Amino acid sequence: MTQQHVPALVIGNWKMNGSLATNAALLESLRGDIASFGNVHVSVCPPFPYLAQSAALLAKSPISCTAQNLCHEAIGAYTGEVSASMLADIGCRYVLAGHSERRGLFGDSSERVAAKTRQALNAGLIPIVCVGETLAQREIGLTEATLAAQLLPTLAGLSASDLEKLILAYEPVWAIGTGHVATAEQITTVLHYLRKLVADKTGATKVAQSMRILYGGSVNAANASWLADLPEVSGVLVGGASLKAEDFSEICRSFGQR
Ligand code: PEP
Repeated sequence: MTQQHVPALVIGNWKMNGSLATNAALLESLRGDIASFGNVHVSVCPPFPYLAQSAALLAKSPISCTAQNLCHEAIGAYTGEVSASMLADIGCRYVLAGHSERRGLFGDSSERVAAKTRQALNAGLIPIVCVGETLAQREIGLTEATLAAQLLPTLAGLSASDLEKLILAYEPVWAIGTGHVATAEQITTVLHYLRKLVADKTGATKVAQSMRILYGGSVNAANASWLADLPEVSGVLVGGASLKAEDFSEICRSFGQR
């Protein structure tokens, strides 16, 4: 199933980086480059305190905002947390759930990721559920089992119409921030597996074939063009390179002109 007939989605995950001044400069540069991007959806993913700033600076542009995380509950006594409805309120379109740094460093279980996905959908946000294996898991043949364990709790809680909104991101942990991008064959094999898993577990074969699945892991201006040529890849989740305006614009162009 080719994804190249629909605009790709390119998301820049700023992680815990930025300031009012550097964000403004980065967004001004991106806005200036938009005309050269072509047919692509672009979103930036700033830290929580800067979402409102980014939403305001992007208000008149087609670039949207994505949140990096959200609370698994809707409202109440959850000190330090941010709810899905708050993110929707300040203008976010997408939200990440289960980024490997959340899973690995902050203990987000797959059940918690499922609850976050539910909250996102309830608030009208589009959840981007991230899955990915470690190098050790890949080396002992546990890639598919790991991805299934990460995704099944989320799939179990979704209706057919929820599933149509869901976006997945395949982000092998060993490729994130390491400079070791996965090969075309590794990406293609995993994306086929994920579509089959969704189809088998939900019965929604057509939705599984057309659902958007992003790749993430050491995407940069140099490798974006061959990644954009992979027909199964619906776009990319970019970490480090999204902080460099020229590199991120080049990645957007690669996907916008494929
Ligand atoms: C990420 O944070 O999702 C990511 C893919 O990071 P990087 O592009 O830096 O590998």
